[in-house]
Amino acid sequence: MTIQENDVNVDAMPTVHPDSRELVASVFDAVKGVAAVFPRSLFLQRAREGGHARELWDALVAADLLAIGVPEELGGAGGGLTGTTAVMEALARVGVPPLQYSLTTFSREAILKHGSDQQIQDHVVATISGKRKICLGVTEPEAGTNSFAARTLARQMPDGSYRIKGQKVFISGADESDHILLLARTAAPDEEVGRRQGFGLFLVDMSLPGIELRRLDIQWYAPENQYEVFFDDVEVPAEALIGEQGLGFDHLLSCLNQERVTVAAWALGLGEYALRKAVDYAKVRAPFGTPIGAHQAVQHPLALAKAEMEAARQVMYSAAAAYDSGKDAGEQANMAKLLGTRAALAAVEASIQTHGGSAFVYESDVVTLWPMLRVLQIAPLNNESILNYIGERVLGLPRN
Ligand SMILES: Cc1cc2nc3c(=O)[nH]c(=O)nc-3n(C[C@H](O)[C@H](O)[C@H](O)COP(=O)(O)OP(=O)(O)OC[C@H]3O[C@@H](n4cnc5c(N)ncnc54)[C@H](O)[C@@H]3O)c2cc1C
Repeated sequence: MTIQENDVNVDAMPTVHPDSRELVASVFDAVKGVAAVFPRSLFLQRAREGGHARELWDALVAADLLAIGVPEELGGAGGGLTGTTAVMEALARVGVPPLQYSLTTFSREAILKHGSDQQIQDHVVATISGKRKICLGVTEPEAGTNSFAARTLARQMPDGSYRIKGQKVFISGADESDHILLLARTAAPDEEVGRRQGFGLFLVDMSLPGIELRRLDIQWYAPENQYEVFFDDVEVPAEALIGEQGLGFDHLLSCLNQERVTVAAWALGLGEYALRKAVDYAKVRAPFGTPIGAHQAVQHPLALAKAEMEAARQVMYSAAAAYDSGKDAGEQANMAKLLGTRAALAAVEASIQTHGGSAFVYESDVVTLWPMLRVLQIAPLNNESILNYIGERVLGLPRN
């Protein structure tokens, strides 16, 4: 058996608003070229070797896909979150979900929203040509989901610079990113500044002295690695602060809808990849003479996964459109992440069942999809927290 390559059916276009159809179609088209350079087999090989996906990054730059989501007046290709979502979905559909792309587009969103003109020029514009790779440093060992409990401290010095001390964990791509978008306290935990205040969002150069990485052995298949990142009195210039001191948490929250939607795209693309493999297999595998796809016990879970993914996809593109038109996309973005990750996990489960024992043979590349889709139920935000959001913020139920 060989790894199935990038024969993704781009004609099966997701349902998107007619205004965005042309954009999404052009992204899907561009992704064909990217997948030819960095196919799923190479993605898996790098994941097994603990290597990187440099060719994927370079191909994204060459296809001008990193310009999508950056306003045209800055030299970008525009397209907003709808465009970024399409890039993420299309790449995941061909089995090469780009985590580094997701992290960089999220981080540059924060800079676009809250950074100075200079920071936008230095860091956002630099992402278009692929010169800037940014990872995200939010999670801490003790705080976990509760980022308010983060302890990493950025003390301001009399000259305006900061000294950063603390630790982050699970930081994806920390080794290959030149900067990290870091959430750190600017007021000690015991200082009375209000729950959401007392934080800063910093764009920290990863080559600064005092930053140390320790790799985690994460059991999933992705070419990006995860790290514990230690900050030992790292001297950071005042210009590293994005937005206002004290409001870093709110700045971060203002970008989370972007993240929710692109994570839905990541999951749904991969779910579609898993489903297509199952359908192809179910058409030919015939231990009793009839293809197993004719048995409704096999067919129905695949059909259900398809229906549920399509429904989630509609919510996802609708959330992206709302975000791009400046509306509050919180409700739809959270629902897209919840529905998208769940439907995609159901698709991979159905794909595993359809493949039987073959699902567990590495070369069939079926069970290899499961850990990533399982992680997406938990990271970047667990689905329970999304349900909390829907329960409290959408339905108006009391807070836990
Ligand atoms: C592969 C991978 C890559 C990652 N990359 C990054 C990265 O680049 N940058 C970064 O900052 N972080 C990253 N993370 C961290 C990720 O965002 C966290 O794992 C996630 O936010 C959950 O935090 P935790 O693991 O500490 O779980 P905990 O907070 O300990 O929660 C454990 C479980 O408790 C439940 N739970 C928690 N809170 C609630 C609640 N309020 N209500 C109901 N149930 C709840 C959930 O089921 C949850 O899964 C990554 C994680 C993984 C696994």
